[in-house]
Amino acid sequence: MTNNRDKQISEARFHKLFDDTQAMSIQGYRVDGSVVYWNAASERIYGYSTSEALGRSLFDLIIPHEMRDEVKQAVAWMFDNEEGIPPARLNLKHKDGSTVPVYSSHTVVSLPNDEPIMFCMDADMRSLEMAEAEVQRLSYYDSLTGLPNRRLILERITSAMRNTSSDTSAAALLIVDIEKFHSINDSLGYSVGDRVLVSCAESLQQFSSSPDDLARLGKDEFALVLPCSTSSLDAVAAEAELMATQILQKLKAPLILDGRSHQLNACIGITLFHCPGTLPGEELLRQADIALKMAKRSNTTDISFFDSQMESSVKKRLEISQALNHAVDNDELALALQPQVDQNQNITGFEALLRWHHPKFKTLSPNDFIPIAEANDSIIALGDWVLEKSSESFNISVNVSPVQFRRGDFVQRVKNILKTTGANPKCLCLELTESLIADDIDFIVEQMASLRELGVSISLDDFGTGYASLAYLTRLPLDELKVDRAFVRDLDGHSKGALLTETIISLGRSMNLTVIAEGVETEQQFKRLQNMGCEHFQGYFFGKPSTDIEHYLPSKSL
Ligand code: C2E
Ligand code: CA
Ligand code: CA
Repeated sequence: MTNNRDKQISEARFHKLFDDTQAMSIQGYRVDGSVVYWNAASERIYGYSTSEALGRSLFDLIIPHEMRDEVKQAVAWMFDNEEGIPPARLNLKHKDGSTVPVYSSHTVVSLPNDEPIMFCMDADMRSLEMAEAEVQRLSYYDSLTGLPNRRLILERITSAMRNTSSDTSAAALLIVDIEKFHSINDSLGYSVGDRVLVSCAESLQQFSSSPDDLARLGKDEFALVLPCSTSSLDAVAAEAELMATQILQKLKAPLILDGRSHQLNACIGITLFHCPGTLPGEELLRQADIALKMAKRSNTTDISFFDSQMESSVKKRLEISQALNHAVDNDELALALQPQVDQNQNITGFEALLRWHHPKFKTLSPNDFIPIAEANDSIIALGDWVLEKSSESFNISVNVSPVQFRRGDFVQRVKNILKTTGANPKCLCLELTESLIADDIDFIVEQMASLRELGVSISLDDFGTGYASLAYLTRLPLDELKVDRAFVRDLDGHSKGALLTETIISLGRSMNLTVIAEGVETEQQFKRLQNMGCEHFQGYFFGKPSTDIEHYLPSKSL
């Protein structure tokens, strides 16, 4: 009797424990999967009330469709063997369809003269998972700016290096360091310092293509990955340099906090890498950091590249790029004039060719520095300078970079320069290249037409080397075709070049354009071109470019 009573008490005790336990969903099932027991925690975790659950099938209630077969087998196994399977983390299903992550243990209780029952005990993992996610977030993100931290950016670099496409490509890692940040902290306090950093982070975010590409490395240091693109190291270097320049510009803009303006300065270290690649992310950070130190040390540049092979050439390019910004102010520019002649070798005008004398780089060819000037936009100042200078002389052809032309303000600039110099627009010819025509043709045509309305004429330079189709050529409001030097050089042999040259010349004439051949070096070339109908010439045979204007112009009145 006592025995029986003890059993009853024990049973009641366990019942209450099962019913009341908060964190554990406890369910009992028959061999066919129908519910015989469903505690209060199950109601909360799975959303079904006890009365809704009783009698219904386990598989209809909480087992996601794709797990059904597997669970059926496991359940059958448990009943057959009268024991549970090892506990496991499972994603089960809530009444509302959402996923319920649980840690699930099972057992089969089989008493004599009673049907066996399988009990499942599921611990709700949702809050645990949320806590885990938060821990994850804290360990990968910077709490002040919300940006990824060093750890995450290292993973990002590693995955960038794994490069999914089969092509090899290149990428860059930039480290941006805010200069003299500690003095802001010291003089204005940490809360202002923090806001400055948050604002820097926001500015930098505009340059990252994905949120994971920008990280805060430490106090006032940020890292930015310029993702892999299918291009060469050279191209990525140029892209990274441009981005670095823009970042510096952006950071230099006055920052207003509490009505006070702050002026920030920054330095940037850059390293390039191949993808796929094998260098550890740590090594790349180290390289970018060395480059950063170089930039900090330098008093001529705020941007520095690391690369054992490229270092010197990239460095030189960067130095040239910076020096070009001061070329006009430092009076380092000169114009060389090369005569253009008619069939009687009488001078009809000149081409203005830019010369740059820098104390360190001596005399760099425009072929070397013009592309750099185009990349850093100093071509605008250089181009204006050439136009102004040229306006002082008689019948001048001036080279115009596509970069100058594309900005949209070129017509206005020419207009202003003509106005301030008082030059006769009829004496100015602008040489454009075929590469320009790859752009929006309507825009180009419109700009050209406006230029001609000002009275200046337009020549298509290096004609024949580019890709301008004839269809486009007829649409361009042109005055002159300049046959490229390459065709003139070809005239000496017996190649097909001669035929092509002749075709170009007659094409130009048929379109009523002045045709001028450049690069004429010999009398033979001169004669053959004349026979082909060419009437204007330029080249060493008639005169080399000279900075000594008097050389060709005894008096400016010519
Ligand atoms: P380009 O417009 O085709 O200029 C002609 C180039 O050929 C000049 O080189 C000139 O010195 C050279 N040349 C002239 N006659 C002969 C010849 O008989 N034989 C040979 N072998 N070469 C001859 P330069 O001055 O070094 O200029 C190179 C290029 O730089 C120019 O090619 C032009 O594209 C660019 N450039 C020069 N000045 C300017 C400028 O003010 N603005 C812009 N945007 N580009 C310029
Ligand atoms: Ca030219
Ligand atoms: Ca040319």
